[in-house]
Amino acid sequence: MDPLVDAWGREIKSVRISVTDKCNFRCTYCMPAEGLEWLGRDEILSFEEIARLVGVLARLGVDEVRLTGGEPLIRRDLPTLVGMLSATAGVRDLSLTTNGVLLDRLARPLVEAGLQRLNVSLDSLNHVRFAEITRRDALDAVLRGLEEAERYPELRPIKVNCVAVKGFTETEVPALAELARRKPYVVRFIEFMPLDADQAWHEDDVLTGGEIRAIIEASHGPLVELPAKASSTARRFRFADGAGELGFVNPVSEPFCSSCDRIRLTADGQLRTCLFSRREWDLKKPLREGASDAELTQLLRFAVRHKELKHRINDPGFVRASRSMSQIGG
Ligand code: SAM
Ligand code: SF4
Repeated sequence: MDPLVDAWGREIKSVRISVTDKCNFRCTYCMPAEGLEWLGRDEILSFEEIARLVGVLARLGVDEVRLTGGEPLIRRDLPTLVGMLSATAGVRDLSLTTNGVLLDRLARPLVEAGLQRLNVSLDSLNHVRFAEITRRDALDAVLRGLEEAERYPELRPIKVNCVAVKGFTETEVPALAELARRKPYVVRFIEFMPLDADQAWHEDDVLTGGEIRAIIEASHGPLVELPAKASSTARRFRFADGAGELGFVNPVSEPFCSSCDRIRLTADGQLRTCLFSRREWDLKKPLREGASDAELTQLLRFAVRHKELKHRINDPGFVRASRSMSQIGG
């Protein structure tokens, strides 16, 4: 079957699937303190519906699936979905992004179901600062979750993701960089994007990857850049002595749209071709009205042909996406 290619010649290889819009954290850069209005149970795609779409996508060459949310680990029976997706022909790479707070209990069943890679969000190694940014006193639980995940060598790499916010993250960088040196985790810094539900983002709040690198290099000397896949969102570096890997995901200061190979599926079955899409493509309705695989394929091809060339965060007149990060699935 012909691959899924957009109007700019980019082949779609990766889908990020949000399994729930709910979350047990309230990170300041993502959700309001009071939470959001959650989707109803019937509005959310069932495991069978998700697996059907992944099957159709895999036949179109999409071989990388990442589960996310909201907080994906609060979706009941998540390992069952992981088992269904890992058994889907064509799915080569199955990963999960989580805040890690329930990982302690779930790492084993997820690995047994076929999970291959893991990203855990962690913005600070200081209890007070962690609680300040996530609005939850849960650092110890996240660290326990990471320790548990580490016990399964099948689950690699383990990446630790920190959203870099100016005025907050500078002081957290040294300890996070040390974490990359003493643990088998790739520690990655992600520039803060205008996807916070509070709509408080301002360009001055972005602590760039370049600024963080300078903080680390001031104490550790020059970092050595490593090769990265063409479609990678991160620039990879290691410390000069070889111990520890860091990543910088710089969507604001160094946009990587030209090599973007991703699409996203929200928990309520809307396809988004960009984090910053203003338009969504409803897949739930046709799924529930009995669309054939051929009809779903046609719809997917049509949507992908309309994939945005690039985000416009840095352009004058930038218009925010219609939903925030936890509702889209980052
Ligand atoms: N709850 C899970 C977690 O936090 O890992 C998965 C969903 S969360 C929306 C996915 C990723 O988006 C996390 O790494 C989170 O830090 C990141 N994120 C959330 N809001 C963001 C923002 N405004 N800018 C950049 N990254 C953001
Ligand atoms: Fe929840 Fe993840 Fe958003 Fe934090 S970043 S509020 S953990 S969805």
